[in-house]
Amino acid sequence: MSVTEWLAMALALGLGCWALLSGPRRFGVGLTAALALLAWGLALTPLLWLGLAAVALLLGLAVAFPQRRPFVWLQGSEHRPRDWSRWRDITQWLLVGAMAAAGAQYALHVWQLDSGIPSVARPDVVDAFLPIAGLIQLKGLLELGLWDAHHPAGLVMLLAAIGLSLTVKRAFCGWACPIGWMGEQGYQLRRRLLPLNWRERLAAMPNWLNRSVSIVTLVLDWALRLVKYGILAWLVNLLLAGMPAMMVARYLQGPYHQAADLKMWALFTQPSAGMLMGLAVVVLLALVRRNGVCRYLCPYGALMAMVGALSPYKIRRDTARCLREAKGMNCDKCHRACPSRIHVEVVGTVHSDECHACQRCVAACPVKGAVTLSAPGRRWPLSPRAMVLVIIGFLFVMPLFFYAAGLWGSDTSPMMRMMLWQRLENLPLF
Ligand code: SF4
Ligand code: SF4
Repeated sequence: MSVTEWLAMALALGLGCWALLSGPRRFGVGLTAALALLAWGLALTPLLWLGLAAVALLLGLAVAFPQRRPFVWLQGSEHRPRDWSRWRDITQWLLVGAMAAAGAQYALHVWQLDSGIPSVARPDVVDAFLPIAGLIQLKGLLELGLWDAHHPAGLVMLLAAIGLSLTVKRAFCGWACPIGWMGEQGYQLRRRLLPLNWRERLAAMPNWLNRSVSIVTLVLDWALRLVKYGILAWLVNLLLAGMPAMMVARYLQGPYHQAADLKMWALFTQPSAGMLMGLAVVVLLALVRRNGVCRYLCPYGALMAMVGALSPYKIRRDTARCLREAKGMNCDKCHRACPSRIHVEVVGTVHSDECHACQRCVAACPVKGAVTLSAPGRRWPLSPRAMVLVIIGFLFVMPLFFYAAGLWGSDTSPMMRMMLWQRLENLPLF
């Protein structure tokens, strides 16, 4: 693992310990902390031990002085609305920071490839941005039992995201994806600088026009939501029908696949006119529609939505507690808080593929326990701290074990990478 990966790992494990220690229930803290230490120990390096020492010192201070700032900041009741946004923000900042640091290290690595063998290592985690290569690897693994030697981290991160979605729906999109996070920041900034107030304008229209526009918008929204599934289906068809198993084996050993990350880098740093137009559409969509890219275009989101349908965890409303049924009030705070505009207030269980398990509806509800992200029967509701632990478990601890098993790093040598970089335009597929 490279320096930035180690730092991200140490911070994530530290955050996990913090989530445990600052929670109201301490049951199992010792065991889980011991497991985290074991994971750290497995990946023993001097740098990691420095990180571990820093985290241990911080935790020691937090336990010794629980009422002092900043330690008190991370604590508090499990049911205060700001708990959800605070833990979600911390998790997203951690992942965005980790990806930005890895991206900077990768940029330095590629820059050095121009003049010879690089001294800066390639962070293997950048393979997470090769989802198509990950799907091809998955096919190679399932059909031929092949473990890719060149970008295995891509498959590990794909499996981690699938595991996360199988457990807690599209939590990958709502809590972890840096692209989704950037879209949300862009959207909020646009709203602040240029509030379009669609809803108010719509409400001010004559009734017939208001209704017509609403129907057209609804139909258009449904149609556009299918686009991401169409892109995913096209990719999967390409892999299943267009690439027989033996071709997959040859592709995974070929130079094109070895240089997949460099190809992706060149695609974004030397964009064609078509690519720039595509990016402009993506940015515009993110600015105009909240979660627009996740909702309409992202095939990764489509995959997470399909896998997430199997998750036992769903947003569930308890009608015995909800103010609408219990007190006959006209409450719809959960609906208004939802970035996907899901009508949580009228359903028992949210099955929508657009639910990102962000828990904004949970945070917005004034009645404790009326709406929860929980297992069937509204059992075992997930607190924000528990959510953080699940995410760290899949996106950090799971890759750490793959790393310890020797299934994370790329076998492509720096010399080979330099040669691939110089011939990038003319690489054969096999
Ligand atoms: S239903 Fe709740 S958890 Fe799902 S997207 Fe809406 S606010 Fe987030
Ligand atoms: S915010 Fe809570 S009380 Fe209000 S409608 Fe939603 S679930 Fe019911």
